Amino acid sequence: MTDTAVHSAAEAAPIYLDYQATTPVDPRVREAMWPYFAASFGNPHSVHHRYGRDAEAAVAQARRDVAALIQAEPREVIFTSGATESNNTAIKGGARFHAARGKQHVVTPVTEHKCVLASCQRLEQEGFAVTYLPVRANGLVDPQAVADAIRPDTALVSVMAVNNEIGVIQPLAEIGAICREKGVMFHVDAAQAAGKIPIDTTELPVDLMSISGHKIYGPKGIGALYVRRRPRARLEPLMDGGGQERGLRSGTVPAPLAVGLGAACRIAGEVMADERAHLDALYRRLRDGLMERVPDAYVNGDETARIPGNLNICIPGLDAETLIEAVPGLALSTASACSSAAVEPSYVLSALGLSDADAAASLRIGLGRYTTADEVDRAVAEIAGAAQRLRDSGATRLQA
Ligand SMILES: *Cc1c(COP(=O)(O)O)cnc(C)c1O
Repeated sequence: MTDTAVHSAAEAAPIYLDYQATTPVDPRVREAMWPYFAASFGNPHSVHHRYGRDAEAAVAQARRDVAALIQAEPREVIFTSGATESNNTAIKGGARFHAARGKQHVVTPVTEHKCVLASCQRLEQEGFAVTYLPVRANGLVDPQAVADAIRPDTALVSVMAVNNEIGVIQPLAEIGAICREKGVMFHVDAAQAAGKIPIDTTELPVDLMSISGHKIYGPKGIGALYVRRRPRARLEPLMDGGGQERGLRSGTVPAPLAVGLGAACRIAGEVMADERAHLDALYRRLRDGLMERVPDAYVNGDETARIPGNLNICIPGLDAETLIEAVPGLALSTASACSSAAVEPSYVLSALGLSDADAAASLRIGLGRYTTADEVDRAVAEIAGAAQRLRDSGATRLQA
């Protein structure tokens, strides 16, 4: 059996094209983690013996590796269970801290990840006011709209770096500058951005930032929250306990997972530029191939401010769920994994102004570290072929 990724496993295995839902674990990450599941099993908070100190040293190295990816200080990195927890901690913890100081308002775009929107809804139940910002037809937030939404009682602005459904990159520098000028905390959900686009916390005026292990070829169940020290970002912890992670996240740090996240961040920092070039080429190949064979298809989201690992494409008149079933050789999804069980059209695509029919006709294709040009060619042939067959049969025409 070979140790390399998904595509080289069983011959019948479908081509993985869902890198926004999760990424395979890089074999180097797996290797780095093993010892901490085995001989080096110590509790990183047990400082009285070698088992604990070995684990503690590994966690400290992992913290340095995560910090280095975003030019942060290691003590600004808090380990969490993933970006969902990081986002909850940043938004609810940040807002609740400031509520005690009379600030009870939060600003966030309507196209954020479900866990950001649900955190904001929780705050509304607690008496906070939330402004949900619309986005432009290209999926981008207007920085001026953020400026206009900020009030004297605004505690926090939360804007994602890269959208998980359509791959657009939000203008974080401009929005951060506005927040800094107005003295409002700025949180960024960077789950889809960290390790894919350069993020430098010494330049970007961000106070809190969320990272997820399993979106950057690391393990599931681990993430990080960046918490700026100067000027200091203040927040309340969500959990009470032993006071680990500077009191912000009680609970024993899962050393093997932290080591995996650290390795994933280190590798991402090393390969980011090359990977970007590789994915740029694959993205063009995929988009141009599909547009040539399905000329009335169109790309959702801005064509320039985007990461190349995501193509969200609408094939008008076709039901994307039916199309996905027609191409069992491809592992694809329509939108976010968390909401795809529901039949409602994507709220992100609706926010871009797509009709329900066009939103239901949109497909998310995720490319990543292990995608090859050959796989892209096969995906183009299969998707275009299936679209043609379905259109010819007329079977999946959506009701107007
Ligand atoms: C995946 C994702 C999350 C949730 O991350 P988990 O680590 O799975 O909790 C949050 N935000 C975005 C943008 C994501 O893509």
